[in-house]
Amino acid sequence: MSKLFFRYGAMNSGKTTALLQVAHNYEERDQSVVLIKSSVDTKGDDQIVSRLGVSRPADVLLSPGQDLRSACRALREQRVDLDSGVACVLIDEAQFLTPEQVDQALEVAVLDEIPVVAFGIRTDFQTRAFPGSQRLMEVAHSLQEMKTICRCGNKAIFNARMGEEGIIREGEQVMIDGDSARYEALCARCYLEGSGTAS
Ligand SMILES: [Zn+2]
Repeated sequence: MSKLFFRYGAMNSGKTTALLQVAHNYEERDQSVVLIKSSVDTKGDDQIVSRLGVSRPADVLLSPGQDLRSACRALREQRVDLDSGVACVLIDEAQFLTPEQVDQALEVAVLDEIPVVAFGIRTDFQTRAFPGSQRLMEVAHSLQEMKTICRCGNKAIFNARMGEEGIIREGEQVMIDGDSARYEALCARCYLEGSGTAS
């Protein structure tokens, strides 16, 4: 049985770079992959962009109301290069999936027997789980944390939204990095101290 994997980490933990590397590894062995990006992530339009400068277009730009499993099936019917099957489905910025789309990703893994690897952020700027990430935590067969370092050298686990005066505490859950907001991956101590919670 194929599995649903969730690889989560704070911003800048190399998730997209890892995704593109996995895609490359499959393709080097002449196996086809399908890359999915949520349309909620407007950064780079349909491109999946890693901070190292590597990018490639997503095969599916998934809108919140769209069925993930149907989108994969439709793509397999459209594209001749997928005739021999899809070796893996890779999802970038998976925190932006709806819980229903995560359930559909599980169906792709279990019922369609295609491994699905979702990469995403666990929590938002207020340290609350994104709905998609919460559902992934609940149903993924395998969870893997991807690590990155805080400015102090400790492991970063939170994604602080930064303003001129420091950490911003209020606002919309989704504001795209580099577009309408700026973020910094921080450890819990730096997050709490920067928020004025510690004394
Ligand atoms: Zn720190």
